[in-house]
Amino acid sequence: MNQHSIAVDVDKVVKRYGSVTALHGVSMDIREGEFFTLLGPSGCGKTTLLRCIAGFEDVSEGSIRLHGEDIAPLPPHKRPVNTVFQQYALFPHMTVLENVAFGLLRRGWSAMDANGRAREVLALVQLSDFARRSPGQLSGGQQQRVALARALAPGPQVLLLDEPLSALDLKLRQAVRVELKQIQRETGIAFVFVTHDQEEALTMSDRIAVMSAGHVQQIGTPREIYEAPVNRFVADFIGETNLLEVEVGSVSDGMADIALPGGARLTCPAADGAQRGTGHLSIRPERITPAPAGAGSLQATVEDHVYLGTDIQLHMRLSDGEAMVVRMQNAAAAGIPERGTVLGLEVEAGAARLLAD
Ligand code: ATP
Repeated sequence: MNQHSIAVDVDKVVKRYGSVTALHGVSMDIREGEFFTLLGPSGCGKTTLLRCIAGFEDVSEGSIRLHGEDIAPLPPHKRPVNTVFQQYALFPHMTVLENVAFGLLRRGWSAMDANGRAREVLALVQLSDFARRSPGQLSGGQQQRVALARALAPGPQVLLLDEPLSALDLKLRQAVRVELKQIQRETGIAFVFVTHDQEEALTMSDRIAVMSAGHVQQIGTPREIYEAPVNRFVADFIGETNLLEVEVGSVSDGMADIALPGGARLTCPAADGAQRGTGHLSIRPERITPAPAGAGSLQATVEDHVYLGTDIQLHMRLSDGEAMVVRMQNAAAAGIPERGTVLGLEVEAGAARLLAD
């Protein structure tokens, strides 16, 4: 990949606030035209990184380059980036058009150019018919799109979005996710999106950086992150998983030979850095198939079930005492196993993964 296809190059960035270190040497390349998400629990440093890119904070060490150029000397308003905040506060006494044109007028655009550009971005977010309304006459989702249009109006090379959907209710959030992704594709600019919501990250992103405690844990496509987590933090944070302590006989060429609780052996993919000895295995609940007792590679007793509509979640206990969650599809013909039933569990080929730590 050549230098020009990198939109934002974050290189070993450290950020300290007094004695608190919010970022411990974070590096990532955000590519031109990609929907890139910073994902992690509260306090992991994702907002701090976004604020460093925007220029609201200086980095303590390391550098950030935009299209190859170090942006440290540039104040926020000189950087070719713009931010959509969680609290997107539109001006209530201005029309939608005026809200979008306002920032352009302040940047010195003529009224004619500002209004023309505002109409262009309102068309992009499909709000042309709402230009003369005031924000109070719009739904929450429409207001969010006005905020997006306002941020896109000056033509930033990179758009930063800090939990922009968190003020919306669940149904609306799901609809806006799809729209936001479409708008990103149409503009072709890189979006750097901050969220703590893993479902949001999985559904919208081209790539995700999973962060915890000021460190990047893994960067990859949603599929890589979900199906090939590198460590326990990522496996546990993204989706639901079973983490089993296992004895690892050998690891070679990315495959591990493992003894499962109960003694059955399994050969499965291993993350880089996984070693022999005691290790942790991640098995997704939907990749386990219940079978009659005695069959499969694990034996477990049903302790409870949770009815989820499309799925049934079975809470089970292995003979060595470890808990296990299994998801079975809610097929009309299949009954729900009763509490106390002993079942065999088949682990699909490739469904289990030995983690690095
Ligand atoms: P959230 O989802 O809650 O916003 P986050 O992942 O965005 O969390 P940050 O806001 O980046 O996390 O905070 C990272 C760490 O830096 C936290 O420990 C936070 O308390 C600390 N921090 C952030 N801003 C400051 C500040 N201005 N002064 C001191 N510490 C700060």
